[in-house]
Amino acid sequence: MIGLISATSAGAAARDRLAAAWPDRTRVYDGPVADAVRRAFGECGQLVCFLATGAVVRLVAPLLGDKTTDPGVVCVDEAGRFAVSLVGGHGGGANALAREVGEVLGAEPVVTTATDAVGLPGLDTLGLPVEGDVAGVTRALLDGEPVALEAEVSWPLPPLPVTDGGAYTIRLTDRLVEPVPAEREVLLRPPTLVVGVGASKGAPTDEILGLVEAALRDAGLSARSVAELATVDAKADEPGIVAAAERLGVPVVTYGAEELARVSVPNPSDAPLTAVGTPSVAEAAALARGGRLLVPKRKSERPDGRPAMATCAVVRRPGRGRLAVVGLGPGARDLLTPRAEAELRRASVLVGLDQYVDQIRDLLRPGTRVLESGLGAEEERARTAVAEARKGHAVALIGSGDAGVYAMASPALAEASDDIDVIGVPGVTAALAAGAILGAPLGHDHVSISLSDLHTPWEVIERRVRAAAEADIVVTFYNPRSRGRDWQLPKALAILAEHREPATPVGVVRNASRADESSRLTTLAALDPATVDMMTVVTVGNTATREIAGRMVTPRGYRWQEEPK
Ligand code: SAH
Repeated sequence: MIGLISATSAGAAARDRLAAAWPDRTRVYDGPVADAVRRAFGECGQLVCFLATGAVVRLVAPLLGDKTTDPGVVCVDEAGRFAVSLVGGHGGGANALAREVGEVLGAEPVVTTATDAVGLPGLDTLGLPVEGDVAGVTRALLDGEPVALEAEVSWPLPPLPVTDGGAYTIRLTDRLVEPVPAEREVLLRPPTLVVGVGASKGAPTDEILGLVEAALRDAGLSARSVAELATVDAKADEPGIVAAAERLGVPVVTYGAEELARVSVPNPSDAPLTAVGTPSVAEAAALARGGRLLVPKRKSERPDGRPAMATCAVVRRPGRGRLAVVGLGPGARDLLTPRAEAELRRASVLVGLDQYVDQIRDLLRPGTRVLESGLGAEEERARTAVAEARKGHAVALIGSGDAGVYAMASPALAEASDDIDVIGVPGVTAALAAGAILGAPLGHDHVSISLSDLHTPWEVIERRVRAAAEADIVVTFYNPRSRGRDWQLPKALAILAEHREPATPVGVVRNASRADESSRLTTLAALDPATVDMMTVVTVGNTATREIAGRMVTPRGYRWQEEPK
């Protein structure tokens, strides 16, 4: 819940706008300001104070405890010009909240946390538990001092400006480290461990939890790297397992007995076979999705010496790499989606055509490894991107427009197996960017056809052009004409002309949304192919498409527009 506090009528007006925008997320605190701030601080995860920063500093100072638990506090000035992240920038989410508040109120977000200001991901924002000297290592990163990354396991981290050695260390490990380093070192805890558990009906939570904790400790593993508890379907609601998972802060994942019975394990036994239909629960559930068995099945010890009610086994699963296939849009920065931008900053390895890399280089975080190559190296880019993701890295493979349209997504995914995670980010493809410039040419059914016969036989292309012509579909030609490929466009236009009037509108857009954008509207009969090149798309209307007020319009077919007035 976000507590809202204001003092003046201008503040109250801004407060009410925010409350109206987020009715379910906000609560208004009325009454004397000092008291309202105190109450909200105790009751809410976040505060937005429509008060001077000085006043808020004085009010919250005595309430501050720990930055991992304190609420995030944002201040909005009297004129509503700035949303200042005051405390709890990361842990309390105040930096993100300042940006959100800024969007609603039209205020400028003010974020002073050093890592955000210079584009470094905060060590506490990587989505992984972190221990040790967070402040010291963060300062070293910001000051450009050498910080080494020691990765004992693979995990798709965002880019960090790390060096080969140095006085400071970031250790990516699921092993127990005691004592936790107090200086110059942080431990990042990747969720690499899967704990398989089996339990008899009614097994006490403490017995299960005690067993799991002892197994981890004895094997020198950190409970903070446990990703999930795994068991058999029949035990999905076993109270002790559910409660143990809750206490560890991880989900319970279950598998069918038949699936578990197929997993080969070192220590099968008869008891679970008769009870739930698989010779192994703990080991099989832990190993069901692969990995290395670090702790073979072990049984709980009961203080009363009675038979054990729980078993567990621990497996390390290698971190899955992450491949984001990101469309950059047609060129203009404001047509690059926020999601695309976030993925570019999330990736530690960027793969792409050199000219596209140039388009977004300024967005990349320090430490991003850029693997760029020239035109024609598609196979190399696809293979490189997948290979880097398989090594466990976070990779972004970029393409202009939409990366799935005549671009890298399909060759890359054709190379990828199911051992990596793939995230697709759509982009504004050239046909849409051009359509918006021309007017509304795509108002009815439309297709895109690439005229490049480099990888597609011309007969196939021609057949598709003919089909579109016969079906009276609006056509956008990609890759319409290059120096060595000049007869295909006239040929394709001639096929369309067999079914459409010479006066059919044709839009030609070159470099849509780029600095040297140009466009013109012509007709099927008048189009001069020599004015078309590889930076261009050509959109041919259907038999209903008209030029209206200089714009290309394909009617949607509304009756109220067709009937005489
Ligand atoms: N993935 C890209 C298309 C790659 S094919 C997309 O979704 O847009 C390359 C062809 O796309 C070019 O030959 C040209 O026909 C078209 N194209 C790409 N960007 C363009 C732009 N900004 N303006 C006009 N045409 C463009």
